[in-house]
Amino acid sequence: MRDLYADIIVDISHEKLDKTFQYRVPEKLRDTLEVGMCVMIPFGNGNTLRKGYCIAIGETCKFDPTRTKDIAGIAEKGVSVEDQMIALAAFIRRNFGGTMIQALKTVLPAKQSVRQLEHKRIERLLDKEATISLQGECERKHQVAKGRLLRALVEQPEIPYEWVTGKLGVASSTVKSLERAGALRVVSTTGYRNPVKLAQEEEQRFPLSREQQKIVTNICQEFDAGKIGTYLIYGITGSGKTEVYMQLISEMIERGRQAIVLIPEIALTYQTLLRFYKRFGDRVSVMNSTLSPGEKYDQCERAKNGEIDVIIGPRSALFTPFPKLGLIVMDEEHEGSYKSESTPKYHARETALEVARIHGASVVLGSATPSLEAYYRARLGEYRIFSLKERLTGGTLPKVHTVDLRAELKEGNRSIFSRKLQELLADRLAKGQQSMLFLNRRGYAGFISCRACGHVMKCPHCDVSLSEHRGGKLICHYCGYEEPKPERCPSCGSKYIMGFKAGTQQIEEKLKELFPAVRTLRMDGDTTRTKDSYEQILSAFSNGEADVLIGTQMIVKGHDFPNVTLVGVLAADLSLGANDYRSGERTFQLLTQAVGRAGRGKLPGEAVIQTYQPEHYAVTHAAGQDYEGFYEEEILYRELSGYPPAAHMLAVQIYGKYEDGAKQLAKKLSDVVKSIEDDGTGDDRVSVIGPAPATIGKINDIFRFVFYVKHREYGRLVHTKDVLEEELQRSQPKWESVQFDFDPMNTM
Ligand code: ADP
Ligand code: ZN
Ligand code: ZN
Repeated sequence: MRDLYADIIVDISHEKLDKTFQYRVPEKLRDTLEVGMCVMIPFGNGNTLRKGYCIAIGETCKFDPTRTKDIAGIAEKGVSVEDQMIALAAFIRRNFGGTMIQALKTVLPAKQSVRQLEHKRIERLLDKEATISLQGECERKHQVAKGRLLRALVEQPEIPYEWVTGKLGVASSTVKSLERAGALRVVSTTGYRNPVKLAQEEEQRFPLSREQQKIVTNICQEFDAGKIGTYLIYGITGSGKTEVYMQLISEMIERGRQAIVLIPEIALTYQTLLRFYKRFGDRVSVMNSTLSPGEKYDQCERAKNGEIDVIIGPRSALFTPFPKLGLIVMDEEHEGSYKSESTPKYHARETALEVARIHGASVVLGSATPSLEAYYRARLGEYRIFSLKERLTGGTLPKVHTVDLRAELKEGNRSIFSRKLQELLADRLAKGQQSMLFLNRRGYAGFISCRACGHVMKCPHCDVSLSEHRGGKLICHYCGYEEPKPERCPSCGSKYIMGFKAGTQQIEEKLKELFPAVRTLRMDGDTTRTKDSYEQILSAFSNGEADVLIGTQMIVKGHDFPNVTLVGVLAADLSLGANDYRSGERTFQLLTQAVGRAGRGKLPGEAVIQTYQPEHYAVTHAAGQDYEGFYEEEILYRELSGYPPAAHMLAVQIYGKYEDGAKQLAKKLSDVVKSIEDDGTGDDRVSVIGPAPATIGKINDIFRFVFYVKHREYGRLVHTKDVLEEELQRSQPKWESVQFDFDPMNTM
């Protein structure tokens, strides 16, 4: 038998991770030692025993085998923050792939010298009444940015400078001009970098509704009884979910425990932060991508030292090292941004469950349109589900008109606006109410459909759309199937079979042709290159600076616009045509959210959904705001086709400098998977789809191939990944690299 060697680290910090020491694995530990375990090793010249962590095991000795020392033994399983972080990193590596170093870099904050940094904040100098009257004056003079800043200062007499220039979208010149006018002053402080540093105001709280209270009571009872549960709160926007989260957090703080609140970055608005701040004051902190590594590190230190009880932030806030975590909240649980796009490609939901298991904490997921995964688990009884049915802010669900674009074409309307949408837009412009036009471009990858009958060109093997490639070929990005692009629709013979090309800019131009006086704002990848511009466009629209906001999926989230009474979805099918199995789900979520944007205020709203497939279940159920109806049909499709959550799917992504090399490696690895023998449990084998070129076959001169492995058991895919990693260890490809993506959110 060949000797085994283990890489051991003794210092658990982001910077020292690459400093490993190799030890021989003694006979007695061969079968027990695993990556992630804590071991005792003889260290240095004196061979004093030290604690270390095993981060890799292999057969190659990197040094002189005769001088390599043996591991002394396995250490007691500890409960220190370090031990917990190592355990978590090992979980991530095992379940999502990559190396232990990559996993550790994900969970540990980068250490930065803790310098005394200058910190600026804005303080209001006038009293509340005077500030309100100045705000009114500015708004009458159409000094919108000034008005916005003053309004924020009315609510909150002290605001961090970065919030003003970032979240509120106010220029520094505006701040200066108000400072000269004596309305405020900019103060610099040094010291602990707490990004949330506001005066806590008296808050008026209302009692929870009966439904809200029931959720809080149930979760607390189970927690106190030692049951560590996962809960799904299913409730539309405005049904009181956030209020439930905050009450649960209070309960946890009373029990001496801490809480992590995950929110998609895009929904982390000033208003959301303010609500938590008003409730928890200095005990809450925020973690987001605009923080510097130093600030992030400080947040972690403060959490470790017990200076804060609550952290709010996107995905990475999950790794805040609280000593006694009691609760993890994951709002908008269905959001795609909860999945990491770089290795390790972990999903925050599954990882949150593991963090909770390690700490004995409860997990609360919230959504208006739960992911198929979460609802499926709830149906299986793994998660307990609670519903909040009523909107507490008033407002009624909008009236929805579904327009068949095929009929529009037949009746001679070739405009991108249906007649119904034109009529309603004219009506809103006349009444001075606002509208939103939504172009559903998510996951759009050149699919082909018929304008006359709605027929979509699909792969005969995978039931996903084919994508158009240069040279007139249609390709399936799951299995590699291809066929020539047809001249005429195979279903009705029409020659109007083509891709949809309009972008937001063209929509804006066409809208101005119809309504020359219309004031528009546009929001898409081009107009929001910086974070601030995103906030600025939303604030401008919210201040009534435009009649119509035109945008991609970005506009359907976050802010509430009470004056919006019309939402138009220009081509609902665009995301239906996306070439992956989640396209129905994504379309349903986007349409439901888009439709829900109309009529948030006192005025009733209407929505127009334009589509070539008015009978598609994602469209009909979104129009009816019927989640369960959608779920029933969608889960049937997933079960029949063996897609998650009914089964699991592993994407093996091959990147290479040379096309042939990458293609051959993809072929070789997929053959390795096909040849994995039955493990004797009587389980059926995994199925392999592909390899195929990726949707975008080449980026920055790197060629991309992918194949998929499917099986009902997640563990079988983990095993497949392990076999492939061993194979790559052996063959050490020179020009290629391989990444794993479990239950992928997007087709590569
Ligand atoms: P969600 O998180 O589901 O969108 P929120 O918790 O933000 O819902 O609640 C929506 C609105 O209703 C908020 O303005 C909130 O202050 C208010 N609200 C929540 N719970 C109650 C309650 N029990 N009584 C009165 N108003 C409430
Ligand atoms: Zn047709
Ligand atoms: Zn296919």
